[in-house]
Amino acid sequence: MAVARASFWLAIIALVALSTLGLRRQIRGRTRPRMVSEGALSMILDDVGAFVYIKDLDLRYRYVNQKVVEWLGRPADAILGLRDQDLFDAATAEHLRKTDERVLQQGQRITIEEQNRQRAGQPLRTFMSVKQPLRDQYGRIHALCGISTDITDVKHSEQKIRRLAVYDPLTGLPNRALLLDRIHHAFLRFARSRCDGALLFIDLDNFKLLNDTLGHAKGDLLLKQVAERLGRCLRLDDTLARLGGDEFVLLAENLGRDFVDVAVGVKVVAERLLHELCTQPIELDNELYTVSASIGVALMSYVSRGAGGAPADDLLRRADMAMYEAKAAGRNQVKCFDPSMQQALNRRAELESLIKDGLRLSQFQLAYQPIVDEDGCVVGAEALARWPHPQKGPIAPGEFIAAAENSGQILALGEWVLRTACAELAAWGQSDGFRELTLSVNVSARQIRHPEFVAQVAAALQQTGADPHRLELELTESVFAHDFEGVSEKMRSLQRIGLRFSLDDFGTGYSSLTYLKRLPFQRLKIDQSFVRDLLLDENDAAIVRAVLTLGESLGLEVVAEGVETAEHFEALRRLGGRRFQGYFFGRPGRVEDMLNAAVLVS
Ligand code: C2E
Ligand code: MG
Ligand code: MG
Repeated sequence: MAVARASFWLAIIALVALSTLGLRRQIRGRTRPRMVSEGALSMILDDVGAFVYIKDLDLRYRYVNQKVVEWLGRPADAILGLRDQDLFDAATAEHLRKTDERVLQQGQRITIEEQNRQRAGQPLRTFMSVKQPLRDQYGRIHALCGISTDITDVKHSEQKIRRLAVYDPLTGLPNRALLLDRIHHAFLRFARSRCDGALLFIDLDNFKLLNDTLGHAKGDLLLKQVAERLGRCLRLDDTLARLGGDEFVLLAENLGRDFVDVAVGVKVVAERLLHELCTQPIELDNELYTVSASIGVALMSYVSRGAGGAPADDLLRRADMAMYEAKAAGRNQVKCFDPSMQQALNRRAELESLIKDGLRLSQFQLAYQPIVDEDGCVVGAEALARWPHPQKGPIAPGEFIAAAENSGQILALGEWVLRTACAELAAWGQSDGFRELTLSVNVSARQIRHPEFVAQVAAALQQTGADPHRLELELTESVFAHDFEGVSEKMRSLQRIGLRFSLDDFGTGYSSLTYLKRLPFQRLKIDQSFVRDLLLDENDAAIVRAVLTLGESLGLEVVAEGVETAEHFEALRRLGGRRFQGYFFGRPGRVEDMLNAAVLVS
């Protein structure tokens, strides 16, 4: 670096002297000036480690020193008169032209870092360049003089030093410093999105013993393989770091907003890590070694609830503590720092096994909630799953639906809901007062993605004899998150046999107009959260009004959910609402009660 800098300044001094000593005139006087081969200045310029050149106003080379000749691999005579586009790749030439023109137009010296490539495909080299305009005796600019020093190696060394400062040289993974920085940024993102993340502290079991018996060189190889295996489990948003020794850390962001979903998501990640590490032994020099690890988990939301301290350090410390607990509990385990997270996981696991029995013992029921028109007359109903557990009491649908989704049991539960709802609908077809009603059934993401879904619905309709035109499926936007095309295809198949669709909980997700435009929905359901505060919050009122207008212009019926009072009903009617659902007209319950409740209103 010092040598490069010295020759750079030497060249500057020489050039200043060169222009004052009249070389300038000599260069201008000839159309193809020869390289200055005699005289001290020319020798100096040929000797310095910098590239020195002069271009005329047409940006053709008029002087180049020996260094330029060597780099371009052509004699000076073959360079003079040419422009950059004749010598460099297109991007370099364009970039050089722009800076040269800037110097000539502004009439000022600039110092600039440039990246040049002679021809496409060749490596980029980095130069530190000084470019300055040359003036004649009247002060008019007639040429441009440049001095460039090749700093490519310096740059590489700088990068290497920078890399060494934040990456672990053995595995190439981020080190503690970079990890802490990433955690810091993750907390900033978390504060905005409220989308939780987790830190998983992974420590190999008995590594010290292995390292001592194997020798450190083999120990290093083992760690490299461990890093590689852990790396296979990463998603796009994850960071895997090595803190040193056998300690690895995974920072997983964007796991979700719902606490239980996050807990379950982390468990899945941790189990995948253990599986990847432990199921296949690691081979070193034809010998197999079995490894296992202990994992400690801490959630970002848990740490951010705590007061003070640097959250990044805090998160790391808690995950570390949880890891020690996992070791103490017998190794090859996952432990969570947050006790409520462990409880949530236990509860989820318990629910999953209860659902299995619940399905077998026919514990689930359907409740029906009326949907009414602007006169309060029932025009349809929504079927809502209920689970009055004989021992545990009623379990909320929010809880068991999520558990069933997670375990895949939603397929069986959803099929039961569909068949029961279709049987009810078929019975309505034979009964006065019910014949005209539609019945809405909620369908979850995992359920509709199942390849047999369309066949399942068709079978339920056929076996019960229900009228497909009276059946409506309620979908939330989450349904489209993974497989828009597939789901859209299924919707169209079902539409062809007469089914209708409504977009549930509108306003809580992306509220994407694309879904509404491209998919065969007939209805929108405004989420109850907007209706709840309709009378108190002007923003909510504005959203409700906007959704009603949107529905009208797209030809969609809009149902307002969560209508609890006469005031809600009145306000919604004033805004132009035509369909309503909520406790004011009837809570989810038995079919007989549904009609009674509605009669009271109308
Ligand atoms: P959802 O489809 O939006 O259903 C409406 C929810 O709002 C129901 O909650 C209903 O009881 C409640 N609700 C109705 N009127 C009012 C009101 O005036 N005020 C208030 N505060 N709440 C009202 P529920 O029954 O607890 O169901 C919750 C969610 O569980 C449903 O939301 C739906 O997404 C899901 N769910 C229920 N049954 C099923 C099912 O059979 N399959 C699937 N996949 N999901 C279901
Ligand atoms: Mg619904
Ligand atoms: Mg809803």
